[in-house]
Amino acid sequence: MARLWNFSAGPAALPEEVLRQVQEELLDWHGAGCGIMEMSHRGKEFGSVIAQAEADLRELMTIPAHYKVLFLQGGATLQFAQIPMNLLGEGCADYVVSGSWSKKAIKEAERVAGKSRVRCVASGEAGNFTAFPDLAQAQLDPQAAYLHVCTNETIHGVEVHDAGILPTTVPLVADMSSHILSRPVDVSRYGLIYAGAQKNIGPSGLVLVIVREDLVGKAWPQTPSVMDYAVMTENGSMLNTPPTLSVYIAGLIFQWLKRQGGLAAMEALNIAKAKCLYDCIETSNGFYRSPVEKIWRSRMNVPFTLVRPELDAPFLAESKAAGLLALKGHASVGGMRASIYNAMPLAGVEALVAFMNDFAARNA
Ligand SMILES: *Cc1c(COP(=O)(O)O)cnc(C)c1O
Repeated sequence: MARLWNFSAGPAALPEEVLRQVQEELLDWHGAGCGIMEMSHRGKEFGSVIAQAEADLRELMTIPAHYKVLFLQGGATLQFAQIPMNLLGEGCADYVVSGSWSKKAIKEAERVAGKSRVRCVASGEAGNFTAFPDLAQAQLDPQAAYLHVCTNETIHGVEVHDAGILPTTVPLVADMSSHILSRPVDVSRYGLIYAGAQKNIGPSGLVLVIVREDLVGKAWPQTPSVMDYAVMTENGSMLNTPPTLSVYIAGLIFQWLKRQGGLAAMEALNIAKAKCLYDCIETSNGFYRSPVEKIWRSRMNVPFTLVRPELDAPFLAESKAAGLLALKGHASVGGMRASIYNAMPLAGVEALVAFMNDFAARNA
């Protein structure tokens, strides 16, 4: 059985080279006589795995020394609650709502902190989330404990390409789940960056939190220990058993990214992949359409619609038969979505574009 081109939004495709390495080491990790997921997280073997993963991530993202790196569980969704529990203190927070994920983030913050302490300062909902909302018009609270944004909306395909538009007057908290490691990031602009692993890092079960030191240690007293950044920092992300297999595979992905030339090289490749796909959409004479305003179009998640909705079913059936998986769009947007994370090579996007051109020619 061949591996097909997989455009899943998440859990998403992983590099074949890494999967083969996992397969090779699964039963006997480096001569230990058992696999990495079968040994104690307190032992020196796993200790070296998590330390190397952190070192490689720090190198890839040039994370300054005064930032902590945490390997946590509960996905990005738990961070929606955990962030206010750790950063809000007695104060209030501002949220930008730019799509489904940031809308969920603010809802969850309201749930734990109460509606009066969480403010939506800008929303793209009136425009169906086809652009990142204009922050120049936003009335930001200079006293806010933090400003929360989602820099790549996985469902709506809206990405912030210029972090310079994001104010840093208060600590900036960013959900980067679906584009972390796809491009270089100036970590020092952010108070906290978080990302669920299953889009662009590795298997599910792991969420990365990169947090500035001075923001750690302010959790509400009733915060559960595993959700308290200070407790997890003191314990090297291992207060309790971490998702060892996910951490190990994420570590292999970091090493793979270094072999590809790091994040600048990934960015160049991701620009080329996105251009290839958006050019196909743009030159289809309206057969395909991107709902997102040009300057906000995501390099990672490309939603598109077909000129006639009755073509959706044949498009999906025929693309699958052509070896192109998981192109169905999210139910809330409809149409199609191609997620083209780091693990998707240019050849995969070219195969999709060849299919799309052929399908358009036959159905125009
Ligand atoms: C997938 C995703 C989430 C939710 O991740 P879980 O791991 O399922 O909790 C949150 N934010 C963004 C931007 C996502 O893409």
